[in-house]
Amino acid sequence: MIDRKQLKSEAFALGLSLNDTQLEMFDAYAELLVETNKRFNLTAIKTPDDIVTKHFVDSLTVFTSADFPKEGSRVIDIGTGAGFPGVPMLIYDNSLEITMLDSTGKKLDFVRSALERLGLHADVIHARAEELGRGELRETFDFAVSRAVASLNVLCEFCLPFVKQGGKFIALKGSKADDELAVSRTAVKTLGGKFIRCKELLLADEQTRNLVIIEKSEPTPPKYPRPSAQISKKPL
Ligand code: SAM
Repeated sequence: MIDRKQLKSEAFALGLSLNDTQLEMFDAYAELLVETNKRFNLTAIKTPDDIVTKHFVDSLTVFTSADFPKEGSRVIDIGTGAGFPGVPMLIYDNSLEITMLDSTGKKLDFVRSALERLGLHADVIHARAEELGRGELRETFDFAVSRAVASLNVLCEFCLPFVKQGGKFIALKGSKADDELAVSRTAVKTLGGKFIRCKELLLADEQTRNLVIIEKSEPTPPKYPRPSAQISKKPL
């Protein structure tokens, strides 16, 4: 299905080495993704080459950050969809304790069957981030990660409540991360965060990615996250 050599070399270009078992798992995951996508719209990225670069390698970029990974870390992937970046992260480092969260149940059915097929374990939760973030999982994760879910200021309200003090929120963003960051300063500060750095990367599709790294420096005030309607009506 996928070109394993392509995946291995694109990951290697990021300084990440993949073994045969991991390459086999990525291949099986791509096959499941393409098969399921014929019946249910999971992702707009459908060709094997694009799956390699735009889903798999893109998801693995989190491991290039000096702020990540630490073996055995507790990680929450907010708005995981068909499992990105959470499933590739778990294939790369199965010591991670990953929770995958999404508000669309059907996508999570796919994630559950993919994890089972790959022999991996993660907690898969069907909920809205802004509701779950007020419950018992609040401030219990070392890392929150998220890709393609919302603008950075809104995403901060979804993600920062889950991160414990000293932990980090890593947003996987495209080329406009600086602009998003400029309008997210209030959100970051209000929610107990501190901007650390943006790490720019260029992938094989010649498009720029940015990892936006935000540390949880203070507890999130109890009034956040607010209900969905307020977040969308009056984003921080
Ligand atoms: N992260 C995946 C990726 O990069 O391929 C999926 C991205 S998809 C464009 C956005 C996902 O975020 C959808 O699956 C949607 O259901 C989920 N989502 C949006 N708002 C959410 C919220 N408030 N709480 C949980 N999931 C949410």
